[in-house]
Amino acid sequence: MKTRDHLSATFFDGCVEGKFLLQQCSAKGHLQYPPGPVCRHCGSAIAQWVEAARDGTVEAFSLVQRAPLPAFDAYVPYMVAVVKLSEGPIVETWLRRDGRTPELDKVAVGQPVTFGFEQVNGQTVPVAALHQA
Ligand SMILES: [Zn+2]
Repeated sequence: MKTRDHLSATFFDGCVEGKFLLQQCSAKGHLQYPPGPVCRHCGSAIAQWVEAARDGTVEAFSLVQRAPLPAFDAYVPYMVAVVKLSEGPIVETWLRRDGRTPELDKVAVGQPVTFGFEQVNGQTVPVAALHQA
């Protein structure tokens, strides 16, 4: 999720409060991230936002050593990961260990993470943290 808009404003406001919010649909209770105008599983309306437990597992990861945009020059090297939340939705995120970019050989698919929040380019966003060994 790149920028704040009418769909993501509630999500980013939740981040400021330390909450990882998921949308839940009215018909079947599906949970989704990132936010969308309707449920992407069944097409029904979004009924409410619910707070995720913030736990997940690493599905994939990569070390970024060259910033994709000038705004990220100050952050390289950083690690990006695909994390599956315990509730099911998939999240593309930064990955940290002890508040820093982890060494590549210290990360593996299947490792558990818990989401915290950091300021990136002036916006509070969820960032996954590897559990201590
Ligand atoms: Zn649904």
